[in-house]
Amino acid sequence: MKTKKRFKGSKLSLLFMLMFVIVLAGCGNDEASPASNSGTSGGQEASENIDTIAAIKERGKVIAGVKYDTRLFGLKDPISGNVEGFDIDMAKALAKKILGDETKVELKEVTSKTRTPLLQNGEIDIIIATMTITEDRKKEVDFSDVYFNAGQSLLVAKGSPITGIESLNADTTVLAVKGSTSVTNIKEKAPDAKVLEFENYQEAFTALKAGKGDTLTTDNSILLGMMQDDPNYEMVGDIFTDEPYGMAIRKGDQQMVDTVNEMLQEMKDSGEYDELYEKWLGTSPPSAE
Ligand code: GLU
Repeated sequence: MKTKKRFKGSKLSLLFMLMFVIVLAGCGNDEASPASNSGTSGGQEASENIDTIAAIKERGKVIAGVKYDTRLFGLKDPISGNVEGFDIDMAKALAKKILGDETKVELKEVTSKTRTPLLQNGEIDIIIATMTITEDRKKEVDFSDVYFNAGQSLLVAKGSPITGIESLNADTTVLAVKGSTSVTNIKEKAPDAKVLEFENYQEAFTALKAGKGDTLTTDNSILLGMMQDDPNYEMVGDIFTDEPYGMAIRKGDQQMVDTVNEMLQEMKDSGEYDELYEKWLGTSPPSAE
């Protein structure tokens, strides 16, 4: 009898436990979905208590979202496996600033399309990936001060009849990358041209070389890297937008924004910023930077 009673009791508590677990699981889901939903205000709610600096110190490394396919900013060498560029050196400088050691950084590949969701769902601490500061993007992330000034331009095969944005018409196919400002801008500035969108810059450049389009459009800084990669291609015309780059931080994490800005200022004061600029771009930075 006694055992039977106890069995009954434990059955009941099992039922309660089960209900409790179901309720908990439900809560978990509610919290997880907004963070993985880029562009919703839910992402902002989820980041209210975010303290990226504390998380970095606890794990002992900075996790930076960078490009792997963009020469001069973030490019992975397929043989050595090393990722190098201006943005990579910025990530190292941040590890030095926060942890006192520039090697304490883990790089994670992002594309123009994946970078904001990856930041919002917590997979990376910061985006350092040729990202333009725009009003639209400010609704989803916070930005550091400008650390590089680029502008959109066009890349063509040498000898192409395209000489600038004014050459684009209904017969022109323009290649660009998903999630970039370049796509939005070109659709606005050359509304008749056909636009083909690719996942990343490697794919877009390969498509240009394969004759799948007449021109590739993105920032002059990125096109410069492509010209260095293959001198059969050149940039034409003037830049037709302003693309100020910022490092993106989860919304509401002011301490992280302040730390990154402090680092930038220190790098400018010490001359380290100018050195980096010259190392990657081959010239000294325009005085406004
Ligand atoms: N700077 C532009 C952007 O943020 C183009 C470069 C890129 O796709 O990262 O969209």
